Amino acid sequence: MNYDVIVVGGGHAGVEASLAAARMGHKTLLISMLAENVGATSCNPAVGGLAKGHLVRELDALGGQMGLITDEAGIQFRILNQTKGPAVRGSRAQIDMDKYRVIARNVILNTPNLSLAQETVESLIIEKDVVKGVKTDLLNEYMASKVIITSGTFLNGIIHVGEIQKKAGRYGEERSEGLSASLKNDAKLNLSRLKTGTCARIDSSTIDFSVMEEQGGDELPSPFSFRTNREEFRANKVQLPCYIAYTNPLTHEIISSNFYRAPLFTGQIEGNSPRYCPSIEDKVSKFADKERHHLFIEPQTRDNTECYINGLSTSLPPEVQREMIHSVVGMQNAKIVRYGYAIEYDFVDPRELRHSLETKKISGLYCAGQINGTTGYEEAAAQGIMAGINAGLSLQGKEPLVLRRDEAYIGVLIDDLVTKGTNEPYRMFTSRAEYRLLLREESADTRLGKYGHELGLISDAEYERIKLKDEQIRYGAQLLEDTKFTPNKEFNALLESMDEPPLKDVSTAQQLVARKTFDVQKMLKIMPELEKFDDYIKEEILVEGKYARYIDKQSEEIQRMKKYLKIAIPEGFDFTKVSGLSKEVQEKLKSFAPPTLQAAMNISGITPAAIEILHIYIKIAK
Ligand code: FAD
Repeated sequence: MNYDVIVVGGGHAGVEASLAAARMGHKTLLISMLAENVGATSCNPAVGGLAKGHLVRELDALGGQMGLITDEAGIQFRILNQTKGPAVRGSRAQIDMDKYRVIARNVILNTPNLSLAQETVESLIIEKDVVKGVKTDLLNEYMASKVIITSGTFLNGIIHVGEIQKKAGRYGEERSEGLSASLKNDAKLNLSRLKTGTCARIDSSTIDFSVMEEQGGDELPSPFSFRTNREEFRANKVQLPCYIAYTNPLTHEIISSNFYRAPLFTGQIEGNSPRYCPSIEDKVSKFADKERHHLFIEPQTRDNTECYINGLSTSLPPEVQREMIHSVVGMQNAKIVRYGYAIEYDFVDPRELRHSLETKKISGLYCAGQINGTTGYEEAAAQGIMAGINAGLSLQGKEPLVLRRDEAYIGVLIDDLVTKGTNEPYRMFTSRAEYRLLLREESADTRLGKYGHELGLISDAEYERIKLKDEQIRYGAQLLEDTKFTPNKEFNALLESMDEPPLKDVSTAQQLVARKTFDVQKMLKIMPELEKFDDYIKEEILVEGKYARYIDKQSEEIQRMKKYLKIAIPEGFDFTKVSGLSKEVQEKLKSFAPPTLQAAMNISGITPAAIEILHIYIKIAK
């Protein structure tokens, strides 16, 4: 059975990888252990969030599926950090996780060039460092010159619930042993262990929501996908609330008195956990002085029969989980449907990969998703689409698509992984991106749509919409720059009516909108000609105007950085003399002795700030 591309694993990475490859015209096979779990959300029933929302919108701009499925399966939509700067706002949606899975599977099965096989891949077929295909548990051999592994948390997975340990990929699902061994022994990849965890799920009818704070969605919800019609979406989307509850000193007492049974502390778990998504036992231990922690009670489906308790991830024994949940106000009578657990699994050192996500050792073999040391559906999906695209491009004899750090969060994600590796589950943050103002969620389509279109993943009509959007924003931003106001009586009266201080000197519209207090409404009062644009275009024009100076500065910095990364580091350069670099960084540079600033940048743990300092020293040394 011959294919062009085989994708192993139908999680978020596998869904995007297989769709991208098939849509680029390549005969693709998605092999996954359980057909009904294609697109399953192992942990929280939500997509997006800070920086993760950026990834989903970038993926969408490239022609990916996650945003579209989220819009259809979503039950609540919010923009986080609304009151903060535009670069750090993030879209987040609660989803009906059952519906999400069904939609994902249906899309896969309805996509031309794409087949689905419910089997378990046991080993890779590799000849002379070139991948040829895979063998499954049913002894089928599937051949392809491109194989993408997206096996998530399943490689040699071990689940921990208190002292109980089970071999599994997710609770109730088999783990993958053969594939792990094959990656190690046949592909000679370097594998290590990581850990993640999840919370208990509660029967919603046993929760007293009346004593909890309600948290609704945005009044005007925004869809994730640029291809979803905003007006129709807003008119038709019915949203469900989540609820906020709190742990309390009693909860903490129950947890801390059972630390001795927590696999995280007893040495039972070896892999590193996600620092930014800690379990409740971790939080209680690290922040012992905190009297309470937030819990978000999130419906898992639109029927709201089962709830996810965000903030209460745990691997404590079942009876301790019951006790701690019953100590929370509103959950005294809660019935647990599924217990929380931790899972340890093998992952591939992402430094084994090129920026295309192809392994350096085995030609044609790609890895994407949690297997590369990341955590999160969005991080997985973003890598998935890039692996699918690059497998497709390679089949077409073309260069891989490598997104730059100043171009996309996806570029930051992959660059961080393949150059620096990770020793804890990697999740995306806005702080990881050096050029945040350029990488706003809303600009994802104008940044990346051209690639999606070139690859055939974005339709001509959609690309026309993107080009029009870009033109309108450019036009508006230029208008703000070109329009000047003189401080006359009439204009100052207009400003006064908006509670704005009067003008003293001639000023451009751009300078005015740069005022902290200027919003879209005020902008329209001084520039009524912008009224004709859609609301989201007006918002983008305002943002471009407000942050023009910073955006220009970042663009200049990118150009400057591009130039100076080529600069050679003199042979024998003494890194230990560079003050401003930590001892650790100095030692690292000394041992690697990079020949250029670019090579220095590629070393794990070397930040752009360190490169700036080094650049200055090299200039002085010359
Ligand atoms: P997965 O979604 O894990 O999908 C892997 C797929 O590969 C599965 O369908 C599996 O059946 C298939 N597969 C594996 N091996 C084979 C094989 N040999 N043959 C055929 N098919 C195979 N993320 C967060 O952001 N925050 C969290 O707090 C968090 N907690 C988590 C807790 C738990 C218990 C688990 C299991 C996951 C958690 N995650 C969390 C991670 C999140 O679920 C993953 O990041 C995301 O699902 C990874 O997507 P993926 O596509 O890489 O893999």
